[in-house]
Amino acid sequence: MLFENLNLSPSILKALKTEGYVHPTPIQEASIPAILEKKDLLGCAQTGTGKTAAFALPILHLLQAREAAKGRKEIAALILTPTRELAIQISESFSAYGKHTSLKHAVVFGGVSAHSQVTAIKGGIDILVATPGRLLDLMSQKVISLQHIQLFVLDEADRMLDMGFINDVKKVIAKLPVKRQTLFFSATMPPEIDKLASTILHNPVKVEV
Ligand code: AMP
Repeated sequence: MLFENLNLSPSILKALKTEGYVHPTPIQEASIPAILEKKDLLGCAQTGTGKTAAFALPILHLLQAREAAKGRKEIAALILTPTRELAIQISESFSAYGKHTSLKHAVVFGGVSAHSQVTAIKGGIDILVATPGRLLDLMSQKVISLQHIQLFVLDEADRMLDMGFINDVKKVIAKLPVKRQTLFFSATMPPEIDKLASTILHNPVKVEV
């Protein structure tokens, strides 16, 4: 299988060429077509499997199509991840894969001043990468609204639980539009995570690698 066979837009394929990606990894091969068909996804995968591109590439593709139709910047995709390091990595992936698109993203996480994060959001973004605590802060300050989210990614759900973030995650989910596409990733499926997945996913495609 080649990336060219996955129906991704030319601007995304061009960026992949620069990255030196030729063949999708197993999780990418299974997830990308399902996400492009706007299905919910339950992915059991560790970091290192190519999980980030598995969701970032189809999100960029879907939002490019939407942008052509709408042309207005409002946050349409939210990626919730447990740590600052993961948030930065995911944000760098969007920069790399999306560099030939006009889509904008920002990243927010705690432990640093919110000032530059707020400036980035106010400039208009399509995609937000966030850790739960800082996201809730900025939502309560009305800097961030989730009302136009079409795509929601919950990354490393089991680690959210281990790190004590699960209630924050549930608070965020409660503010999302009901009509949306949800992509749920977890390396393991402890009962509480399994229960959360079955509550928020609708007929998900299941991918295990
Ligand atoms: P991740 O599991 O998302 O953290 O990705 C692990 C590493 O694999 C990252 O450094 C990616 O840049 C790289 N990577 C992801 N997908 C591919 C691919 N299809 N071909 C080559 N490298 C990849």
